[in-house]
Amino acid sequence: MLEIPESKTISLQAGETLVNRRITEVFNASSPHKFAWFYGDPAGYAKILAGRQVISTSGHGMFVDIRCDADLSITIGDGTNMTYLGGRDTERNFFGHNGGYKTLLSKNTVKTPCPNCGNLIVKEAYLGGAVYFCPSCQKFR
Ligand SMILES: [Zn+2]
Repeated sequence: MLEIPESKTISLQAGETLVNRRITEVFNASSPHKFAWFYGDPAGYAKILAGRQVISTSGHGMFVDIRCDADLSITIGDGTNMTYLGGRDTERNFFGHNGGYKTLLSKNTVKTPCPNCGNLIVKEAYLGGAVYFCPSCQKFR
């Protein structure tokens, strides 16, 4: 899930890079992902998107909207090749650099002291992904 600072950062970076440019090529989903949902048949996306001009971008909540001419919007959330867009320091940003949003509980901080209590941060598998937490501060109830 994108966090609010990430969607804001990504939308600003996407806006700096994409506004006034045209979509020239569209790649279909290349790796199945249980948390990626499509509207209609993604095989038809190229026909809809190619040639559209990007008008603006905005980040809201866990999504980034890329608005195009012809009253068309592309909404991006985590799972939509967000490793390319990034925002977190665990991901690459729009320009291929690690994002500026410093994560506290992530693959970068697992087995390091919790910034709140000093106990070690742990990683556990969850729904095909991973979660990172402090077992002292974030006790299961
Ligand atoms: Zn803690």
